[in-house]
Amino acid sequence: MRQPLVAGNWKMNGSSDSIRELIDGILSGLETKAEVLVFPPHVYIQQVRDLLSGSPVKYGVQNASDKLSGAYTGEVSPLMAKDLGCEYVLIGHSERRSIYGETDADVAEKFCALVDNGLVPVLCVGETLEERESGATMKVVAEQINTVLRAAGSERLANFVIAYEPVWAIGTGLTASPEQAQEVHADIRALLAENDPSMADRTRILYGGSMKPDNAVELMAQTDVDGGLIGGASLVAADFKAICHAAGQ
Ligand code: PEP
Repeated sequence: MRQPLVAGNWKMNGSSDSIRELIDGILSGLETKAEVLVFPPHVYIQQVRDLLSGSPVKYGVQNASDKLSGAYTGEVSPLMAKDLGCEYVLIGHSERRSIYGETDADVAEKFCALVDNGLVPVLCVGETLEERESGATMKVVAEQINTVLRAAGSERLANFVIAYEPVWAIGTGLTASPEQAQEVHADIRALLAENDPSMADRTRILYGGSMKPDNAVELMAQTDVDGGLIGGASLVAADFKAICHAAGQ
């Protein structure tokens, strides 16, 4: 039985004041059986750690280097994330891929560095609208995942999360229908099963892309949707809590 996971990706938003307010709002009256997690900007990790102390809500970073230390200006090491109590790290978000040119191979190297240093990768995958319309969705998603599986080898696949995020649904207000999401999630699980059926069974596959309180229940009800990666709605405490609630039903 996979515990649902709801993760809020705050992207490059917030200030110390707004983050205090947001976390107060999230913690007040949060009731869910889902695991809940937020990804603040790096510079606020220490503040978020203090504010979440003693609560069940976890936190992680939105990106990390594949290198552990040294002359890599502007980068953040997996060891630093670990040092500040992060458990999860987001990698391969479509904004990292499209704006900063991260390739499948780059993402695979990060995946290995995270696992090797005791962190849990949340691996984002997803197709563009053009790729969907040309029927290439699963080809693209499979290549993104297979590059990681090949680099990781079976010994690094004990604990990771996949977030299926159709690029055309991120921040656009367009959402995959529950059927569209389920179809891709089931294909991803089948792909994982070709590698190792028990890994496929235990690995959580989140949906991301304009998930909101009013579409969360139906999306989460799909057999292979194990939670959500939430962008915009994670910046509004009431909306984020409503989604957490939907995931825990
Ligand atoms: C995201 O950026 O991971 C995301 C899902 O964003 P949004 O919910 O705003 O579409």
